Amino acid sequence: MTNIVANLKNLNSQLPPTVKLVAVSKTRSVGEIMEAYNAGQRLFGENRVQEILSKKDLLPPDIEWHLIGHLQSNKIKYIIPFVSMIESVDSVKLLKLIDNEAVKAGRVVDCLLQVHIAEEETKYGFSAGEIIDLAKRGEFANIEGVRLSGLMGMATFTDDTRQVKREFSELAECFSHLKYHFFADNINFKEISMGMSGDYPTAIEAGSTIVRIGSLIFGERNKTN
Ligand SMILES: *Cc1c(COP(=O)(O)O)cnc(C)c1O
Repeated sequence: MTNIVANLKNLNSQLPPTVKLVAVSKTRSVGEIMEAYNAGQRLFGENRVQEILSKKDLLPPDIEWHLIGHLQSNKIKYIIPFVSMIESVDSVKLLKLIDNEAVKAGRVVDCLLQVHIAEEETKYGFSAGEIIDLAKRGEFANIEGVRLSGLMGMATFTDDTRQVKREFSELAECFSHLKYHFFADNINFKEISMGMSGDYPTAIEAGSTIVRIGSLIFGERNKTN
């Protein structure tokens, strides 16, 4: 049996106070989420809009929700009213659409740009070089409905700690470069979201400020998620 309360306590005892824990609750029931909530956890992450929508009204209103998966444009309007952070902004088009919807809703939404650092092929995320080019071209200026808060990335799923460390360092360097050259005056640009159940100690060593952890809290998930 998974002991969610004990797992959370154990994890929290290992995290430096500067690192925020997002409890990744995708595929987990409202009951499991409540166990974590009753143990004091308030920050949760989900990767599907539909799934957050189906759970959130059954849960306490002081939960902060982070969206950590690819966001389809037609779903933006459903999460804007309540989402606390969108960690997975993976295109300029999406950024502008989020900006539009947020302005319409009278909100300013915290967002992270997702950087593709892993070796695995994926459709989602910017390359580090791409983000820097976009910043140079001023693509991240004049957004009123979005507060750009930093970067998010996922390392390759491998036991090779050196490779994982290299990938997280690449993300941290990309962050430092952007911070220094483009966001020096922006106190909101401060987060590096990296580290999951299998690699969070390496991520923290490399400078993570947000870790996103599911299975270490709630137990193994079924493989397709
Ligand atoms: C599922 C997921 C996690 C958490 O994965 P675990 O290995 O269960 O800790 C973190 N980040 C993202 C983007 C995810 O989709």
